[in-house]
Amino acid sequence: MIAAPEISVVIPVYNERENLPELVERCLTACRSMKRSFELILVDDGSRDGSQALITRAADAHDEVIGVILNRNYGQHAAVFAGMKQSRGEMVVTLDADLQNPPEEIPKLIRAMDEGVDVVGTVRENRQDSLFRRTASHLVNRMVQQATGVMMHDYGCMLRAYRRPIVEAMLQCSERSTFIPILANSFAGNTAEIAVQHARRENGESKYSFLKLISLQYDLLTSMSTFPLRLLSFLGVLISLSGIGFGLLLMVLRVIYGATWAAEGVFTLFAFLFVFIGAQFIGLGLLGEYIGRIYHDVRSRPRYFVHEIRGTRHTKMNSTSVSSIF
Ligand code: UDP
Ligand code: MG
Repeated sequence: MIAAPEISVVIPVYNERENLPELVERCLTACRSMKRSFELILVDDGSRDGSQALITRAADAHDEVIGVILNRNYGQHAAVFAGMKQSRGEMVVTLDADLQNPPEEIPKLIRAMDEGVDVVGTVRENRQDSLFRRTASHLVNRMVQQATGVMMHDYGCMLRAYRRPIVEAMLQCSERSTFIPILANSFAGNTAEIAVQHARRENGESKYSFLKLISLQYDLLTSMSTFPLRLLSFLGVLISLSGIGFGLLLMVLRVIYGATWAAEGVFTLFAFLFVFIGAQFIGLGLLGEYIGRIYHDVRSRPRYFVHEIRGTRHTKMNSTSVSSIF
């Protein structure tokens, strides 16, 4: 077996026939220019347009190229995971196959990694997407920053680099729906963010329909936190309190304007109703708290990762304790 390369580049491919030859060419040139060992992993995510044949051909033609062919379409993030699983590099770079992320930026990411960070994120300069996509992405990025603290500014761009321990940590997560940049940041000790170019999609079309985009946002949201479940309790408290307030207001007005104004207590019924509806929401929120905990447990993400263990005593103790058993 050949020694593990320093850098692994992982690219998910789904019906990108027109982009593949140029992609492979440009990636190889960019990686070779770094004068470091690398592997280029192309993951075919169940393409039906002949991309698979192109990938196998590239893998046969170049020693550095590895083709991973999935049996059907599993989605971009699953495909990236499949590629990471096969990767062996100390640093793993991911990018899109549609050439929107210029492969020439890879050396820039590696230079940033050399500073010793765990994850390098990117901000797309002059982003070449529709106004709708840009606005939606802006809103989502704001939401993520609110929920996780401002660690990075752009989570949508898949041109990123991760250090091996982070990749291993992610591979140990058994959850099915994931959003890789968020998951990686949850394990990262220190991160960096650099500006990269963004190109228009010249060939083929975006693989994300409106519905697929929404489903991706749900993946992002649920991989990030269970806060939405807690929101139910907050909403419940709010409705209950407004019900109580409304009841009190009705009581005061009843005294001032008399029984006929109060429509013989019909309004009061609404006040009661609000309180009960609120109570139901609080109950739901309480259920949500349990569901959130169940969710955390079934995902069984690793709780922590030891970066390093130092000290001769530690290792010695282990070996003596083993030998003392026998
Ligand atoms: N992709 C994939 N599986 C899918 C959808 C997309 O592997 O089910 C790949 C696709 O080939 C591309 C990357 O994921 O390399 C990003 O897809 P796309 O460019 O369509 O997304 P957008 O740029 O519109 O966000
Ligand atoms: Mg794209």
